Amino acid sequence: MLVAGSLGVCADCIRERPELSRGFVEEAHLKVRARYGLPSKPLKSQGGIRCGLCSNLCVMGVGEKGYCGLRGNVEGRLEGLVSSEEALLYSYIDPHVTNCCASWFCPAGTGCGYPRYSMSNGPEYGYFNLAVFFYGCNLDCLFCQNSSHKEISRAMRVKRGDLIGILDRNRRITCICYFGGSPEPQLPFAVSASREIIEAESGRVLRVCFEWNGCGESRLVREAAALANVTGGNLKFDIKCFDENLAKALCGVSNRKAFENFEMVAREFFTNRREVPNLTATTLLVPGYVDEREVESIAKFIGDIDPEIPYSLLVFHPDFEMSDLPVTPRRQVERCYAAARKYLRRVNIGNKHLLDLSYM
Ligand code: SF4
Ligand code: SF4
Repeated sequence: MLVAGSLGVCADCIRERPELSRGFVEEAHLKVRARYGLPSKPLKSQGGIRCGLCSNLCVMGVGEKGYCGLRGNVEGRLEGLVSSEEALLYSYIDPHVTNCCASWFCPAGTGCGYPRYSMSNGPEYGYFNLAVFFYGCNLDCLFCQNSSHKEISRAMRVKRGDLIGILDRNRRITCICYFGGSPEPQLPFAVSASREIIEAESGRVLRVCFEWNGCGESRLVREAAALANVTGGNLKFDIKCFDENLAKALCGVSNRKAFENFEMVAREFFTNRREVPNLTATTLLVPGYVDEREVESIAKFIGDIDPEIPYSLLVFHPDFEMSDLPVTPRRQVERCYAAARKYLRRVNIGNKHLLDLSYM
């Protein structure tokens, strides 16, 4: 049995005996949050101001900040370090075909949707992705593979026009992908910047994609889905696990909203563009925690909506608060793959190169 030292409790105890595990879970997150000066839980301060940008629905009293660390109550006003005009991010370009979790089926990786959504009738060699890494997150995953997003004070402040300028100067960029952290707390920026980009660049192949935990406010999620849909891009939901107690243990807060948003996007958008999928899910196979039981439940949830939705299982590498866990054992990957295939036709294994480092 694998148990992360930071949690000190196994997946079965978390799922079956949540009341006994609660102390371990709270302690684990408290330590991480304190290190970064972030609230230990989404606040619900009586008489405070409510933020509705994500499912945490923080209610902050004067001087308090939200779970993501990006918004707060300043003298009775809801103020953010970010807005729809300015974001905390860094960006870089990545040559296609990138290690994007969707490139096994998307226009950049395969040429599907050519010529409307891709520059080539095959992998889009010679072109680039603009990767936009947002600081801050509405979850607190102990296995985070991008934990630098928590160093908010080190982030660059970028205006909408700066991002648009990059795309204007480099005509070989064919997709823009917002990730992080997770984009939810900065969705007003991502959505408005993307809208402006699409208007300015009509006729150009420029896909808009979001890679997120999926717990954002539904109206903004729908707007992001519409942008991805019209440009040939896609929404990548990182569904951490199925069991809610396990989600709270691994990620600090519930992830139920991701399921609600996923279903909404699937029903409103996926069926209209099946030949170039605009929606996918991924799950990181955290050793000892995100096992075939979790994967089977997630795959069944997706399959009940539409068995053609692509699903990718990602091999874990030791990181952040779970750096004492190994790379996902090959047997766990095989069991999870078999569980997912019961319900879904398109299942992929991502980060396959790491399997060479795993033990059986
Ligand atoms: S974006 Fe989410 S985590 Fe951040 S303050 Fe708003 S509700 Fe809280
Ligand atoms: S960001 Fe979008 S278009 Fe670009 S490689 Fe990933 S899924 Fe494909």
